[in-house]
Amino acid sequence: MERILNYINGELISPQANQFLDNINPATGKVYSKVASSHDQDINKAVECAKKAFLTWSQLSPKERSNYLFKISELILKYLDELALAESIDNGKPFEVARSIDIPRSAENFKFFAQQILHFEGESFAEHEKGKNKVFFSPLGVVGCISPWNLPLYLFSWKIAPALAAGCTVVAKPSEVTPMSAFLLSKICLEAGLPAGVLNIVHGLGSNVGEAISCHQDIKAISFTGSTSTGRLIAKSAATTMKRLHLEMGGKNPTIVFSDCDFELTVEQTLRAAFSNQGQICLCGSRIFVERSLYESFTKSLVEKIKKLKVGNPLDPESDQGAVVSREHFHKVMKCLEIAKSEGGKFLTGGHQVKLLGENADGFFIAPTLIANLNYLCRTNQEEIFGPVASITPFDSEEEVLMMANSTEYGLAASIWSSDLEKAQRMALSLECGIVWINNWMTRDLRTPFGGMKESGRGREGGKYILEFFSNIKNICTL
Ligand code: NAD
Repeated sequence: MERILNYINGELISPQANQFLDNINPATGKVYSKVASSHDQDINKAVECAKKAFLTWSQLSPKERSNYLFKISELILKYLDELALAESIDNGKPFEVARSIDIPRSAENFKFFAQQILHFEGESFAEHEKGKNKVFFSPLGVVGCISPWNLPLYLFSWKIAPALAAGCTVVAKPSEVTPMSAFLLSKICLEAGLPAGVLNIVHGLGSNVGEAISCHQDIKAISFTGSTSTGRLIAKSAATTMKRLHLEMGGKNPTIVFSDCDFELTVEQTLRAAFSNQGQICLCGSRIFVERSLYESFTKSLVEKIKKLKVGNPLDPESDQGAVVSREHFHKVMKCLEIAKSEGGKFLTGGHQVKLLGENADGFFIAPTLIANLNYLCRTNQEEIFGPVASITPFDSEEEVLMMANSTEYGLAASIWSSDLEKAQRMALSLECGIVWINNWMTRDLRTPFGGMKESGRGREGGKYILEFFSNIKNICTL
């Protein structure tokens, strides 16, 4: 059975304790590979190597670092099919989704920051009253990157690429639930000739590897994406060494539909926003609010479309929805469905496991679910489910929908659907979240700041924002 090894100091190696975890294919429920279960000693070694590599990597010109990133980007596309297959088997997402979205975006992340670093300049201030001021950026040092399982290579590379571009060296930990594409990335880095120790990928449990990264005194910053509860643990552990932290956490995003929206487009995109990647995207619109006059017709049309989604083997090109990521997550989502029922929710469609045949008989499949009749303050509408489950609620006024939309502890993203752009803009400014899409969902320009407010996030990824995060900023004033 294939063994997923650590990538430390330019070598693929077993963890020092030689322990491995089962890696399960969620579409079959079967173990299909083993992943390194690392501990403190592996992180200590990775940090030592990253510190040594920093001495030279940080001194390369942006152009030299950029060339490595371009090479990695090209190699990701060269191995597009292999990576997409790995991602689909590891995560349960349809192969076509991985092939057309996740892996191309991972290549784009490296390409984007390979370009962006060439334009990442300090600032000069013209003399104001006294003194000429110049701002300089320099690489921070060894940094940690910790990522989740929902968009494995996409989010892993979204952190690693800017860290490397900024001149930092990296100790990175992918999710133990979906480690395969990170393993393939380490092989790509070897093929790209990335100098030893510049990127180190250490596999294992969050409580071991993630905690060791959070506590390590020589790691200067952590960029983390995952749940809010883990974000809190990291913030606590990192406090003793005063690390710089960037946290991308949970979401419970509203989709706000006004009666003057483009009906067909809005139904189509509300469906996409709720159920893409089996609802396992932090940006998914899991609370749908529809203006009362449109509520009935909109709900009917949405339900018809949900019923047409085919849940099936992720490797079958006919499947719109694959498996949810793991047995634990399957049970968590099924429990949330029970809670919704106990809260008086009316299941308009879904609400049950999907049993497939043959090799997928033990896979973790859930029918896409739409629930009505729920109070906006109930648990189903307040807690992150992170599965193929959405609620739908009517509203009567802008004030009411704003109050409901802003009622959760989260504040990541929202979408607003209306032909009245003035109203949409007004709403967007009042929503308590970091990203608002008007008449679209998840359109991404990688230069823009990405991140949440409230319990959804601290700091921003994207463009110059994340490059600044990975930099020391110095002002020099000359009279
Ligand atoms: P998770 O918090 O369980 O795990 C994320 C990562 O943290 C994993 O690599 C895990 O091993 C590690 N980890 C776990 N415990 C740790 C600890 N004590 N110290 C350090 N690291 C630890 O999240 P998940 O279940 O993998 O992913 C789903 C969550 O991620 C959802 O809440 C989702 O909203 C969130 N997410 C947020 C964004 C965003 O941009 N805001 C994007 C994607 C996913």
